[in-house]
Amino acid sequence: MSILVHMKKLRDGAQKLGLHLTPEQLEQFEIYYRELVDWNERMNLTSVTDYEEVQVKHFLDSLTVITAIKPLNKGQRLSVIDVGTGAGLPGIPLTILLPDIKLVLLEATARKTKFLHHVVDRLGLDNVEIAVGRAEEAAHDLKYREKFDLVLSRAVAPLPALVELTLPFCAVGGRFIAQKKGNIEREVERSQKAIDILGGSLREVKSIELEELYDKRCLVVIDKIRPAPAEYPRRPGIPAKRPIVS
Ligand code: SAH
Repeated sequence: MSILVHMKKLRDGAQKLGLHLTPEQLEQFEIYYRELVDWNERMNLTSVTDYEEVQVKHFLDSLTVITAIKPLNKGQRLSVIDVGTGAGLPGIPLTILLPDIKLVLLEATARKTKFLHHVVDRLGLDNVEIAVGRAEEAAHDLKYREKFDLVLSRAVAPLPALVELTLPFCAVGGRFIAQKKGNIEREVERSQKAIDILGGSLREVKSIELEELYDKRCLVVIDKIRPAPAEYPRRPGIPAKRPIVS
């Protein structure tokens, strides 16, 4: 007799990252998957819907950020914001893995936040706040500005614009991790000036060596070493339209 194992691809991939997912966590990923494909029929949330592909390209990929976070101090409750989270990536997989974090999911499109509320409710996550709005505005809200130990963002904007949108959320001493795909040397070079102006320091570009993720995925890791000047980020749309480039 065989026992049905949910999310086997994810479980096996996570193991290679040194992560042991419990049956309860795998069950949460299973629920997240089902809700994602169900809602995706009514709204455009993802182009990836195949069971195994979602496990690898969305869930496992999201969990790779764990390889670049700072070691936690004892008793520290990590505060995290996921900027442009869309359907909850990478924030929701990360908090399934680390239920003790305090997480804000920021998304500009109100429609998508309806899905987020639904999923967070279904998964019984009471450590997650969902914020509708643009990073350009939310980053000037004192509730969020320079308040996070960890800022995450996946597939939102080219790096020069992205650091303007994200580094203002990051507390001095905190860290920003951008999830990127493909050849990004040039993009990183072009973002050097923006990183510097926004109070960051490039720590490393870490490539993800997992056979499941073969399309050159990497993490751009930036430490926040100084406060960001008050005038950043500029008005909505400006960081993308007129990026600070070196
Ligand atoms: N991070 C998700 C979604 C990527 S799509 C994933 O990896 O699957 C990019 C998302 O960022 C979209 O949902 C878009 O609405 C949101 N977004 C783009 N610019 C934004 C901004 N300035 N502030 C907040 N959200 C933004």
